Amino acid sequence: MDWDTLNTDLKRLKLRRIRELLSQEAIGEALSSFEDPIEMVGYLIGEEVSARDETQREKRLKGARFPVEKTLDEFDFGAGVSICEEAIRSLENMEFLANRENVVFLGPPGIGKTHLAIGLGTIAVETGYSVRFITAGRLIDALYASLADGTFKRELKRLAGFDLLVIDELGFLSLDRTASDHFFQVINAAYERQSVILTTNRPFQEWAALFDDAITVSAILDRLLHRAHIFNMKGESYRLRGHATATSEEVKHLA
Ligand code: ADP
Ligand code: MG
Repeated sequence: MDWDTLNTDLKRLKLRRIRELLSQEAIGEALSSFEDPIEMVGYLIGEEVSARDETQREKRLKGARFPVEKTLDEFDFGAGVSICEEAIRSLENMEFLANRENVVFLGPPGIGKTHLAIGLGTIAVETGYSVRFITAGRLIDALYASLADGTFKRELKRLAGFDLLVIDELGFLSLDRTASDHFFQVINAAYERQSVILTTNRPFQEWAALFDDAITVSAILDRLLHRAHIFNMKGESYRLRGHATATSEEVKHLA
């Protein structure tokens, strides 16, 4: 078989990595070093598979739309925040995703809720799950907009299509009746079908003030908390904590 035909066939079969390898000058030599032809084919196929895995991973990472890069390893559990490292670490194996369980981070601003949510979401991407990060505000805006142009159902279905939905910053604004209902529909669609990681600065007792009516709140909490890992984070803002440490160091120096 001449190279042009092979090249065309590889193109048709979308074997991009193999095509790339075979078009390299030195490839003949490299392939002739394989004694076993099966091993040689295995090498080429293996290269194709890892290249595709990498492409998929990059696609998933882009699709997740994390606002910044954050990893769990960068999180300082000793920084004075009341959160159990072991409990977070126990989520790293992504079993909570396989079991469609939710994770809720509650706590004041700057304490690391978004950081942990992105950290877990990133592991999910690496593990092969599809993830979508969205702030509660944008989620509500998007659903309002979809209502206007008649794509609400499609939008809801699209959101429910991810293995993991990360909803960040619930609680910065109160939701009117329509928005409360939309939020309920998202949580209801997710219920036992996908996992949700939610971050909020409002304790559950205050959710009644957040949503339009008590029935919607209890319906949301019912589904969200049915199988959930809840982290009630207490402490100071990480940035403020940084200042506090610097100050006490300075005080030590002065003493
Ligand atoms: P929240 O979502 O709770 O308001 P963030 O997760 O946005 O807080 O944290 C604010 C900033 O401080 C981020 O840059 C985050 O990476 C950092 N941060 C917060 N807590 C920690 C921590 N314990 N270790 C390392 N960085 C932290
Ligand atoms: Mg945040």
